[in-house]
Amino acid sequence: MSTDLNVHKCPNGHLCYPKHSVCPKCGVLMGNKTVSLSELNGTVVTWTKSTVPPPGVRSPNILAIVEYYIEGQSITLLGGIENESVNIGDVVKATYVSSLRDAEYGQRDEESQTWSGHRFKVVN
Ligand SMILES: [Zn+2]
Repeated sequence: MSTDLNVHKCPNGHLCYPKHSVCPKCGVLMGNKTVSLSELNGTVVTWTKSTVPPPGVRSPNILAIVEYYIEGQSITLLGGIENESVNIGDVVKATYVSSLRDAEYGQRDEESQTWSGHRFKVVN
C-alpha cells in the first residue's frame, strides 16, 4: 500500500482531489492516473481550530486548506495539521498517519476507528 498523498489526473491533464468518476473540468472519465504530492510543498491558504470535534476526532483539531501548484495548475485540499499551531502562508508537507481517529475520544470500539490517511506538517 502506498503511503503517498495522490491527486487524480484526467486524460486531458486536469487534477482533482478527491477522485470523481468524471473530470469536474472537462467531463471525461477520470481513469486511474495519479500524481503524488508527498515530496512537494503546499501553502496554507486558511485554517481553523475545532475545539468541539465529533466523537473519535482529536481535540483540538486544526484543519487547513492547503494549496499546491503542480504541472501549472493550482489544487487545494482540506486536511488536518500535525503541529499545535499554523499560520496562513505556512509551507507544509503531507505526512502519512496510520490512524486519523483517536479511540480515546470515540464512541465506537477502537477497531472501527483505525482509519489511515494524511495530515499536513508545517516545514517553514
Ligand atoms: Zn479533465
